[in-house]
Amino acid sequence: MTSLEDKPVVIVIDMLNDFITGKIQVERTKYIIPNIRRLINAAHENGVPVIYSNDAHYPQDVEVVNKWGNHAIKGTEGAKVIPELKPSEKDYIVEKRTYSGFYETGLDPLLRSLYKGDGARTIILSGLHTHMCVRHTAADAFFRGYSIIVAKDGVEAFTQKDHEEGLKYLENVYNAKIMTVDDIIKEFR
Ligand SMILES: [Zn+2]
Repeated sequence: MTSLEDKPVVIVIDMLNDFITGKIQVERTKYIIPNIRRLINAAHENGVPVIYSNDAHYPQDVEVVNKWGNHAIKGTEGAKVIPELKPSEKDYIVEKRTYSGFYETGLDPLLRSLYKGDGARTIILSGLHTHMCVRHTAADAFFRGYSIIVAKDGVEAFTQKDHEEGLKYLENVYNAKIMTVDDIIKEFR
């Protein structure tokens, strides 16, 4: 169901230095890096748009002040995409200031402008974290009528429990298809 007729896009969420090697890093998230790299490469080879949904915080942002402290502050090294997944020139970067990639950002108009103005229909989610930014972005995608696919070996969380419960919630509540990166790639072709 990710053939090109379903107008898929790959969204890469918060694969930023602060999340992988910096302030709020989690060791267990590192194994998804090569998987996301393969997903991005396959998207490039098959004309599937790639959108990076990146935290770019101001220090006074609600999420920074009330919960996580300073992380991915706009303009800092910590807010840059990790070198292994560096965006190419044809990729899109949409900055966000809270968990959802849609919340007060230009993501939805961008999605609607793709595929020669027909608009994307299927959102393939990868990145961090399964139970937070992936979940909130999936919620807003669902509310707007997009189909959702989650790359189960391309998303991660702080703990195995967070990750597994996160996947279950995405499937149960947003009707997300939970697929491996390799199975997603097969459907591009
Ligand atoms: Zn944040």
